[in-house]
Amino acid sequence: MSTNSAEHHLKNGMTAGQPRCRFCGTELRWTFVDLGMSPLCESYLRADQLNRMEPFYPLHVYVCEQCFLVQLQEYVSPAEIFSEYAYFSSYSDTWLRHAEAYANLMVRRFGLDTTSRVVEIASNDGYLLQYFVQSGIPVLGVEPAANVAEVAIGKGVPTRVEFFGSSVARQMVREGLQADLIVGNNVLAQVPALNDFVDGLRILLRPKGVITIEFPHLMRLMEGNQFDTIYHEHFSYFSFITAEKIFAAHKLVLFDVEELSTHGGSLRIYARHLGDDSKPVTPNVSELRAQEERVGFTNMSTYRSFAERVKETKCKLLEFLIEAKRAGKTVVGYGAPGKGNTLLNYCGIRTDFLDFTVDRNPYKQGLFLPGTHIPIYHPDKLPNARPDYVLILPWNFKEEIMHQIGYIREWGGRFIVPIPEVRIYTPGES
Ligand SMILES: [Zn+2]
Repeated sequence: MSTNSAEHHLKNGMTAGQPRCRFCGTELRWTFVDLGMSPLCESYLRADQLNRMEPFYPLHVYVCEQCFLVQLQEYVSPAEIFSEYAYFSSYSDTWLRHAEAYANLMVRRFGLDTTSRVVEIASNDGYLLQYFVQSGIPVLGVEPAANVAEVAIGKGVPTRVEFFGSSVARQMVREGLQADLIVGNNVLAQVPALNDFVDGLRILLRPKGVITIEFPHLMRLMEGNQFDTIYHEHFSYFSFITAEKIFAAHKLVLFDVEELSTHGGSLRIYARHLGDDSKPVTPNVSELRAQEERVGFTNMSTYRSFAERVKETKCKLLEFLIEAKRAGKTVVGYGAPGKGNTLLNYCGIRTDFLDFTVDRNPYKQGLFLPGTHIPIYHPDKLPNARPDYVLILPWNFKEEIMHQIGYIREWGGRFIVPIPEVRIYTPGES
């Protein structure tokens, strides 16, 4: 390495053993945002674990200068993260409605019937496949977390406990389990071996089959300043342009795309085999590609500007909390989502600012947030505590939550929504 390039690397935070892009293999030299050290955001703690050491890992996100894939290194293996997972999709009403609407749409658009097979990768507790089962369509879930898969099987959704990839796909093909529709919602970001995963999708897909994949849209993440959706479990953050490149490398064509409001703004991409010309590419594809090019998703400078906004948001949230505390106000949280843990750890918000949080998921009640050790209670705790402010951590469900606990107006309580910028809401107004 020449002296010049060594200096160049030092300036950009380069260290020895630099990571490489998980899609194209290019050495990663550019920081997208560095959120410091954080514990795994789903590692909720029991009371007897609070005095033990807790592992923290870097939340240092890079962007690849070749393919523009925004990515985190795999600091922890998915086996450690997902083998017992506390996230049960069925605890969100909004998410269930989304799943039902999706199932109806797919059955109509692609004429699925009792002879079809729908496979969902990362099928969680069967929240989505149950709607296909209701229509008599054969389904199969693939889910790595055994405790969550058990719940799915209990409600009549056949589920294999496995991490999906090309070898699992080959095994399923040998068992005659090729799919007419493969669904992957919020799983692509969580796959460390990205190329092997997408190859598995191609292998499992029948010749005229369709793959739909939903993932948070990097364009919305950046424009909405949603840095709290960055966590160790999410290895990759995709623009449409980059997703298209990755699927094309595996002979899969993205023939349609929809923008969804879920998770702060997601994309649903539709893929088919390169050789299947029964489904023409819709204008949505070229329109979104052109839009991303206009916004600058093929220029490094666009990616490099993100980190400053993130720092500014931290300052504003802390300013608000410090002022509220000095004025003698009480602040509690609502929800215990992964994104809340990124936000709280990055900003250094502990029980000094947030007395406790509440969550509807009984699996989380009685536990403590990783890193910050904020206790999680049943939502019934709110009317007794009568807090002045409720900080809504799952801001993507803020309408639903403000409706559910609108009763805080009885004692003059107000809501704080931290993202994209700190905003205060009085219940009943919007
Ligand atoms: Zn790359």
